[in-house]
Amino acid sequence: MARGKKEEKDAKALKEALFSQKKHAAQRMDDQEMKQCEAFNAEYIAFMNRCKTEREAASFFTETLEKKGFKPFKPGMKLKAGDKVFLNNRGKAVILATIGTAPITEGVRLCAAHIDSPRLDLKQHPLYEAEEIGYFKTHYYGGIKKYQWTAIPLSLHGVIVRSDGEKVEVRIGEEEGDPVFYITDLLPHLATEQMKRPLATGIKGEELNIVVGSMPFKEDAGSELVKLHLMQLLNEKYGIVEDDFLSAELEIVPAFPAKEVGFDRSMIGAYGHDDRVCSFPAFRASLDVEKPVHTSVVILTDKEETGSDGNTGLCSSYLKYFLMDLAECFKANGRHVMSASKCLSADVNAGFDPTFPEVLERNNCAYLNHGVCVTKFTGARGKSGTSDASAEFVGEIRQILDAGNVIWQTGELGKVDMGGGGTVAAYIANLDIDTIDVGVPVLSMHAPYELVAKTDVWAAYRAFKVFLES
Ligand code: MN
Ligand code: MN
Repeated sequence: MARGKKEEKDAKALKEALFSQKKHAAQRMDDQEMKQCEAFNAEYIAFMNRCKTEREAASFFTETLEKKGFKPFKPGMKLKAGDKVFLNNRGKAVILATIGTAPITEGVRLCAAHIDSPRLDLKQHPLYEAEEIGYFKTHYYGGIKKYQWTAIPLSLHGVIVRSDGEKVEVRIGEEEGDPVFYITDLLPHLATEQMKRPLATGIKGEELNIVVGSMPFKEDAGSELVKLHLMQLLNEKYGIVEDDFLSAELEIVPAFPAKEVGFDRSMIGAYGHDDRVCSFPAFRASLDVEKPVHTSVVILTDKEETGSDGNTGLCSSYLKYFLMDLAECFKANGRHVMSASKCLSADVNAGFDPTFPEVLERNNCAYLNHGVCVTKFTGARGKSGTSDASAEFVGEIRQILDAGNVIWQTGELGKVDMGGGGTVAAYIANLDIDTIDVGVPVLSMHAPYELVAKTDVWAAYRAFKVFLES
């Protein structure tokens, strides 16, 4: 039997009413919002070029907070609605809070994101010379595909604590005119054997050696004259001797600046979108929430990429201690504050990459330009390592985002058993805080240059703002 015209129309209307609608952000944003999105992303690009490490991000956040009238948090201080405080954890993580009008026992609205990114750390005895070339030995930090780090310009960031206790800051390779550093790879002509290695070992960990110089000290005869010359330069510039590397944290990151990508400039390429693409919008959102009902708290943490252990990571107690101290300022019990709190764990998710469609399941993955991605659970295999937000809490978040006209989607990290990964969500949920993952879809995550869409960065900012205002 042929289907009538009316029946067809009914099906279309019914589909619109009953089926999930998938829409590109461009179909949902008007010109004015597009302009706001552009302005926000310009700010984001500037932030990305200024802050490439957790220390640089933490110091930028702290400086900005001081300018905006945030005061250093002290246990026992007197606080009232509208007061703004922050805590800097060892120069590598920051918590900021704006006191709400509701009693603290009604809980806080918490956004958590991380400011460390995958990179190469220097070993504690990094400097050596081989065949009159000077090198730094490295130990990679976080999950990287090692072959991606060769043959690209690299910069050096971090601190060295000298034997006299003086701390020297290092940042070289970012400014116009700065030299950069480099990891060599084999020429294809002689890579016949190397090309047979599996991708995972195409470049091995001990092959990630940074070329840092090639000129010897004067014209004296002797050994290690290139190393000596390098030490001489480092001594002149930073006042250090070789043993000072023992008490240093030096990080090698890509020297590329963040840039707009595409003829339409709709995307941004940068090192370390994971997770500055969530931490910056969360930070900015909290600055724009003037007088929240619930106390808004944003935590910008370190060590996520190595599993969140250590006293600047979220497996440590520093967030719990802060919330307990905050509660005590109001003579409340920290435990009760935590139990009543709600959290967006802000971290990136994998965007669907049409070149590699086989790893994601099309009905349950995030797409570029479809908004901030809400992820009910993360983890690997049988949801191992996840906090799995409750239906009730997902329901609440849906309402908040929809009421705020936030463009959002849902997606999980890869097909079942394809791999997986976790975020800090579980550690916050373990404090008895309702927690859900929310973040920006990224292509080429953990690569030296990652890709995001501007509308998704904007959607993340809007999501954090409406949540902190809820
Ligand atoms: Mn991340
Ligand atoms: Mn990551």
